[in-house]
Amino acid sequence: MTNFTSKTLTKEEKRRFDRQFRLPGWNQEILKQSSVLIAGIGGLGVEIAKNLAMVGVGHLILVDLDTIEYSNLNRQILFIGAPEGASKAKIAAKKLREMNPFIRIDAFDCPLQDVPPRIYNDVDMYIAGLDSIEARSELNRRAVHNKKFLIDAGTAVYNGHAYVVSPFTNACLECDPLTERAQDQLGACTLVGKPRRPAHCILKGQLRFEQKHGRPANILHSNEVQDVVSYANKLLKEHFPQEKSFSVNQVIQIIDNHEPTVITINCVMASLQSQEAVKILHHLHTPMHKNRLGNIQLNYLIYNGLTGKFYEIEKPRNPKCEMCGKDRTPLFRIKVKRKFRLSQLIERFSQDKKYPIDTEFPPMIFRIDSSELGEIFLDQTISEAGIKDCETVLVTGFDDGSQIYLTLKLEG
Ligand SMILES: [Zn+2]
Repeated sequence: MTNFTSKTLTKEEKRRFDRQFRLPGWNQEILKQSSVLIAGIGGLGVEIAKNLAMVGVGHLILVDLDTIEYSNLNRQILFIGAPEGASKAKIAAKKLREMNPFIRIDAFDCPLQDVPPRIYNDVDMYIAGLDSIEARSELNRRAVHNKKFLIDAGTAVYNGHAYVVSPFTNACLECDPLTERAQDQLGACTLVGKPRRPAHCILKGQLRFEQKHGRPANILHSNEVQDVVSYANKLLKEHFPQEKSFSVNQVIQIIDNHEPTVITINCVMASLQSQEAVKILHHLHTPMHKNRLGNIQLNYLIYNGLTGKFYEIEKPRNPKCEMCGKDRTPLFRIKVKRKFRLSQLIERFSQDKKYPIDTEFPPMIFRIDSSELGEIFLDQTISEAGIKDCETVLVTGFDDGSQIYLTLKLEG
């Protein structure tokens, strides 16, 4: 019960968190010094952020580039009363400060890629409440590169899953070849080329609409849906003349990218994520020889909300994983002054780490920690190139076609 006599907790904090202090193994001081990045402030993220703010995690970083829609209000409690179109991250931060004025909350309404790399380096762990494969994959890369825990979850209809990635201990999100297949299928379906399956005609109709209008067709506008239906049926007649033409409902089912979802399932999964987070924070800040709070659940957890049952699946690492497998691109962390020239940096690295430079294809540096990808020219200094503290870059052009990741800790 050390929290009652703690010198770092204020009188108000002691009164507020009184009941938590009585939990076996609990340490409020640990939570107060902890920081967590929450990616995605939607159905899951709102609940996770609320839970972690309420238990008193000292610093929360909220990231979401989306804005509030009216249809969010049946489950995303932090947005009640906020105007449609306002930033989810900013409104959530404002509400959470009201709920717990003793913690620090930073909000970023930008893509995950544009959050300063220093933050990914400094926080204790990441939690995902994301709905896209791309964003998960981005956060997974940061988790593996920075060796941080990542707690992922997702919901679909009445089911949910939750999964803690402990890099290099259990499978990361890229270890699963299923993800690769899903991406491949999406990639294979483009506007050009013959549709391989009848359903592709609808996807092509949607893609055509998107190219024409800069956004997908809105299923609430019948003329927009009709546009997709007509084009899809035209393609269907051309390539699959034996098939019956698509109805409006069939088209809506395929082009609607909003998963059915309900607050009860979101809350179950978000609470599981939050509880694992509390344990992980205790583990990270408790010395090895001392008793740690509980065990981290490292299996993939599935919840069936209709039967009320949980299922656990062990997720062994994939030795061939491009992110965490044995043939992955190696990552090095180096300290370097901002006025250092990039060409010098590569030369020094090559000598220090015994990575001979390829004379035929000399080194090139690529930006990966930003939504603006691309080459960085070597004749600049680090500050001229606009490289940020703790930014990771990809460097190619060493012997045998090898490449490396470099994380640059800037000084001076
Ligand atoms: Zn992996």
